[in-house]
Amino acid sequence: MLRSMLPLLGLVGLLFTGLAPAGSTYEPTAEQVTENVYAIIGPTDARTYKNHGMNANYGVITTGEGVILIDSGPGAFSGPYIERAVAAVSDEPIRWVINIGVQDHRWLGNDFFQRQGAEVIAFEQTVKAQERFADQHMVGRLPAALGERFDGTRPAYADRRLEGDTASVTLGGVNIELSLTDAHFPGDAMAYLPQSDVAFTGDLVYVDRLLGIHPWSDPRNGLAAFERLEAIDPAFVVPGHGRVSDMARARRDSGAYYDFLVNTIGQAARDFEPMSEVLDKYEDLDAFRHLEHYEDWHRTNMNRTFVQFESL
Ligand SMILES: [Zn+2]
Repeated sequence: MLRSMLPLLGLVGLLFTGLAPAGSTYEPTAEQVTENVYAIIGPTDARTYKNHGMNANYGVITTGEGVILIDSGPGAFSGPYIERAVAAVSDEPIRWVINIGVQDHRWLGNDFFQRQGAEVIAFEQTVKAQERFADQHMVGRLPAALGERFDGTRPAYADRRLEGDTASVTLGGVNIELSLTDAHFPGDAMAYLPQSDVAFTGDLVYVDRLLGIHPWSDPRNGLAAFERLEAIDPAFVVPGHGRVSDMARARRDSGAYYDFLVNTIGQAARDFEPMSEVLDKYEDLDAFRHLEHYEDWHRTNMNRTFVQFESL
């Protein structure tokens, strides 16, 4: 009986794929952070077909003269999902997209929003790094995870480029202070809104999951940028990954980890301690074991930091 029903179930399944039934695709929503500031908080797992690469956080700011989007998502497919999440909280058009990140799921949606008439804004340094990583992004983990949902995605870059490493932009009286962090990726930045006291840290801060140190990440820049964030001391922190937080959580999950990487692992490397002993010694840390991906990333992070500091 069951066996004879299987072809039928298969057919029903086929009919439904075109309709994208509930649960088959992650549907992002914009949650209010405070006043006119919202965040789309992505899942903290990997890039998957189901979440269509939106495993990161994005910002939505209403200004009265149009919406500002912080980062544009992973591509053409996610664009309409972000548009719907924005439309649910504002009827203003998306006027600006500010890129504060160089990782694939922060900017490969630029092309989509430019086609809808938005102006993309980024630091010159961010654009240069995006150009450098574009080929790698277009064949990397994102297209592998997304399959045909990656179709139609192409790299596109900021229409307006900001010089230097700090800049201030204003739309509808809403002021945004931007500064480069150069931590997770070179060219990464953060955005601070003084009127609402919200910081969008991009990939400088992760909460709930462990920071990833890539070969091109710079933990020293991370620590320095985190100290600048401490000086700002925002009431609300929208991290690159994980829930909307305060500075205490940001410090516990990210600031303390940069400090550990630089001042414990980096220092051990500069003191010519044997790497394998150092990695073993700090493998199991109470302070960070609660973070998702700890098992997968912690040792790699220490290893990469150690190697970087060895060659300083
Ligand atoms: Zn990220």
